[in-house]
Amino acid sequence: MALLLDGNAVSKAVQERIAGEFEKVKSSGQKPGLAVVLVGDNPASVVYVGRKKKACETLGFFSEEYRLPTETPEGELLGLVQKLNQDAKIHGILVQLPLPGHLNPQKVIETIDPRKDVDGMHPFSLGKLVAGLPGLRSCTPAGVMAMLEHYKISPAGKRAVVIGRSIMVGKPMAQLLIEANATVTVCHSKTKDIGAVIREADLVVAAIGRPRFVTADMVKEGAVVVDVGINRTAEGKLVGDVDFDAIAPKASAITPVPGGVGPMTIALLMKNTYQAFLEQTQNRG
Ligand code: NAP
Repeated sequence: MALLLDGNAVSKAVQERIAGEFEKVKSSGQKPGLAVVLVGDNPASVVYVGRKKKACETLGFFSEEYRLPTETPEGELLGLVQKLNQDAKIHGILVQLPLPGHLNPQKVIETIDPRKDVDGMHPFSLGKLVAGLPGLRSCTPAGVMAMLEHYKISPAGKRAVVIGRSIMVGKPMAQLLIEANATVTVCHSKTKDIGAVIREADLVVAAIGRPRFVTADMVKEGAVVVDVGINRTAEGKLVGDVDFDAIAPKASAITPVPGGVGPMTIALLMKNTYQAFLEQTQNRG
């Protein structure tokens, strides 16, 4: 049976480390500040925003939540982001995605001051990632890397297959794995015979958004399987992109859904906020 990669436990450990670091600089009176902007009332987004706020409270960070109505004009949202860019109490800005259809997410992301881009989605952050320069990394893929590191699962030399090529997960995930010396293949909806490609992998990262897409016959015996997907079935059950029950007996390690990658995303958002805080406050001298 596979080793269960426990996202709740690792997320807690990462946040405890951040708390320890923050403790050392607390006497300055300054604290990291995160602004989370939610447009509309997508139920999953409401839950995620609530978790982010709670994580800030637990760590003693300053946090602000902006809830805007679905029909908010683009100019108003961009105006709020510009205001937050200028706000010295705020070191990180996260605009919760997806946005309602009339709003252009790329325009919104590009309005965020790259120093405050704690979601790691700004082209500046993505450019730094590809260049192998230090910077703010997209929280979910960085969370996967932190999870692997915690369990001492080194990607070096492994054949890794990332399923999904989104800007938020798949592409930065592939890049981080390349940086960690894995040999990486990226699959997507046009990949032919995807099962055969996945079967080659020592490390599989599924970020597709299709319930239980990855089945046991697609996975090599002893592979490490990381499931980023969060899907709700018709019966209302939360499941990943991986058929956990069938794959767990043949994998060497696997993340559950829920309780796997999800909590890691929050931990890495806190890490990015703390990093952005240090960089902005140090640069102000
Ligand atoms: P996305 O933007 O919809 O991208 C999905 C990717 O999967 C695309 O690249 C798409 O290929 C590929 N894909 C779709 N159907 C496929 C198929 N039949 N065969 C092969 N590839 C297929 O989604 P995302 O934002 O990356 O999110 C992916 C999943 O992760 C979702 O379930 C989401 O809820 C979850 N998620 C979880 C967290 C977390 O914290 N745990 C964070 C973010 C996202 P094309 O490019 O060819 O269309």
